[in-house]
Amino acid sequence: MSLSERGAAADDVLTALADLRAGDLPTHGGRTWAYVYDSGLAGLDELAHRAAQAVTGLNGLDPTVFPSLLAMENEVVGAAAALLGGGPDTVGTVTSGGTESILLAVKAARDGAGVERPQLVAPVTAHAAFAKAAEYFQVELVPVDVDPVTFRPDPAAVAAAVTDRTVLVVASAPSYAHGVIDPVAEIAAVAAERNVRCHVDACIGGWMLPFWRRLGVEVPDFDFRVPGVTSVSVDLHKYAYAPKGTSVLLHRDAALRRSQFFAFADWPGYSMINATMQSTKSAAPLAAAWAVLRHLGEEGYLGLAERTLDATRALISGVSAVEGLRVLGPPQASLVAFGAAPDGPDLFVLADELTVRGWYVQPQFALGELPANLHLTVTAASAPRIEPFLADLRASVAAARAHGAVSVDPGIVEYLRSLDPSTLTSEEFAGLLAVGGLAPGEGAFTLPTRMAEINALLAAAPPRLRERLLVEFFGLLYVP
Ligand SMILES: *Cc1c(COP(=O)(O)O)cnc(C)c1O
Repeated sequence: MSLSERGAAADDVLTALADLRAGDLPTHGGRTWAYVYDSGLAGLDELAHRAAQAVTGLNGLDPTVFPSLLAMENEVVGAAAALLGGGPDTVGTVTSGGTESILLAVKAARDGAGVERPQLVAPVTAHAAFAKAAEYFQVELVPVDVDPVTFRPDPAAVAAAVTDRTVLVVASAPSYAHGVIDPVAEIAAVAAERNVRCHVDACIGGWMLPFWRRLGVEVPDFDFRVPGVTSVSVDLHKYAYAPKGTSVLLHRDAALRRSQFFAFADWPGYSMINATMQSTKSAAPLAAAWAVLRHLGEEGYLGLAERTLDATRALISGVSAVEGLRVLGPPQASLVAFGAAPDGPDLFVLADELTVRGWYVQPQFALGELPANLHLTVTAASAPRIEPFLADLRASVAAARAHGAVSVDPGIVEYLRSLDPSTLTSEEFAGLLAVGGLAPGEGAFTLPTRMAEINALLAAAPPRLRERLLVEFFGLLYVP
């Protein structure tokens, strides 16, 4: 596609956008159990959009010429620090998302330590963003196994993984995959004893758990209240219900943050100083988050957290009562992952049956001893949806049982194992697409409603090969 010669009327452009949007999953209404966070509050989105609109022309590159951005950022960081047990020395930065917060925490730790061949110790349940940081910044990722029932690492195993080259030890509060909280106090103690930084990934739980605690839920200390924790990340575009594009990375003190910043004076342009990965950056997500935080306040978030807590509890007990399903964990936050009992339904078929009934749930593949499961992120807007969801879940389980499990032909499994991810050819990839019932045709690529065959195929592929297949798949999608 090239630019149209004469352009189009604004209304026509917006109509075209609305047509494109018709194919998207709903972002509101509680039927989409991943990716989106819906407060269910009337007017909140509108406020965020208006705040964003007020700053669209500004450039977050230079806070000295746009002091409004500096003021908003300091206010947002202060609110996050206060919520997460920060003290008077706690500082932070607003980033574009959880991944950027984690990338920067790893970069700051690496550059702060300055050791040769640095290592990062993280439970296998830590978010993929740590692997990304390791890859981007050439830090060796040292994974620590977790218990296949509790999904938590043994602190002794974490201690055993720490070496003189370790620059950072990671704990999650909670993990995305299963919603369980790592033994943060023990892990941070291990790190402190070795004089190594400890990052707590509270990207998804950091804006929920403190409010649940106030509601009487027993939440172990996971933030700066724990000695040895040196940095904490919390996403505002998750349970702070801000639009996409904001997270906060907090450091216990300014000395720890220094190596996060990038400064460069050795070029003939303006002297560069960046707090984050981006240089020129949109101010819109910051302003939107600032407005949402100001508007909701403690009381607003407490109410949202209470609705989410009730919804999560109802979901857990409802799913637990379905024969053939079992809730993993158990969850300690508003994320619910459930697996299948040995005689249970095929989870990938079950996900398809839910899709047919208008619900999106997120399949997660098995890893070693950790079982495959379906993941649901509960939000305040989920509350009125629990009963209808459970009714459809029961119907979907019955339908999935009637359908039977999807199996991958043993010959194909053998073929998959024989493929070398590092040399996979496009012919081999095209062959696999055909096996999965996907032939690259002309025009826009659309996934089928029924994904079970493809998921079963992906599940049969070893992780390295699965990564490669996904890369090829993206290559197929992203062509103009
Ligand atoms: C969402 C999430 C991240 C990554 O955040 P993005 O905003 O998707 O980049 C990291 N850790 C946990 C626990 C998360 O839930």
